[in-house]
Amino acid sequence: GAKDQGKNSYQYYTHDMQTAAIKRMTLLNDLRYAVKNKELFIEYQPIACFSSQKVMKAEALLRWQHPTKGRITPDEFIPLAEESGLIIDISNWVFNEVCANIKQWKAENRQELQVSINTSPSHYFNLESNITQWLNLLLDQKISARSILLEVTENLLMEANEMVSKKLFQFRQAGVDIALDDFGTGYSSISYLKRFPTDFIKIDRSFVKSMTDVSNDKVQCEAIIVMAKKLGIKVVAEGVETQEQYDILRSMGCDYAQGYLIAEPLSKTDFEAFWQKH
Ligand code: C2E
Ligand code: MG
Ligand code: MG
Ligand code: MG
Repeated sequence: GAKDQGKNSYQYYTHDMQTAAIKRMTLLNDLRYAVKNKELFIEYQPIACFSSQKVMKAEALLRWQHPTKGRITPDEFIPLAEESGLIIDISNWVFNEVCANIKQWKAENRQELQVSINTSPSHYFNLESNITQWLNLLLDQKISARSILLEVTENLLMEANEMVSKKLFQFRQAGVDIALDDFGTGYSSISYLKRFPTDFIKIDRSFVKSMTDVSNDKVQCEAIIVMAKKLGIKVVAEGVETQEQYDILRSMGCDYAQGYLIAEPLSKTDFEAFWQKH
């Protein structure tokens, strides 16, 4: 009867929840060892300048090669890392790794490159994270602050308190650029752009996509680019997949393009080869 059905669906519900919870706990447990076991690595996605057509920047994207489950995407494990606080250790690892690579590239006399690093809100809110230690590391390693760009999310700025804004300004003052990632998907407010040090806006790929899909909606990208220009902020378009998108963005005065049209995220070696060619 209806009563049994209700009971059954309740059981299924809790069973699903249990399975999901166990899966998460297992993954989190594995993630705790991922750094030590050298299962993490970085891929670099080239970012091209519209005017010079050259690779001027690259975004460092974290990868996890799980010993038995294969590749696990950041969208699966970054939220876990954030909730558990593991993100602090993991991000320190990312920062160190990127710095080591920049140092090597400098020793090889390669062209100048700015590496974009994703940061999580916990870096700025958590007292233990001490993200400003990253500045000391740059000094120690004699790495120019201009080689680093920190990506933050709109939601960070929305919740930002005095400590967060102090940290952002410390980076800015040291010469590290700040980019607002996935721009347009959060609670964008022009007032944040004026209150916080923003050097770059990264237009979320959903807006780039809608320029050429059925909605044929170019207004949003154009509005973001015009606004950014007036505020003296440079614009990177994310998720540029077609030549048509590239051409439209270029005609709108967008500064940089990132997406599969230019290149997918590449292993360090493949990135070096690509960079050399472009
Ligand atoms: P994100 O920062 O917005 O990074 C861009 C994402 O778009 C990357 O996904 C990239 O592979 C993907 N992408 C690039 N070009 C294209 C394109 O043309 N089309 C499409 N469909 N996708 C494209 P990925 O590598 O899976 O990373 C997902 C998210 O995970 C990142 O989004 C970022 O928020 C987060 N993440 C990655 N690495 C780190 C990290 O080291 N630290 C932190 N805190 N978050 C990270
Ligand atoms: Mg990013
Ligand atoms: Mg993004
Ligand atoms: Mg993102």
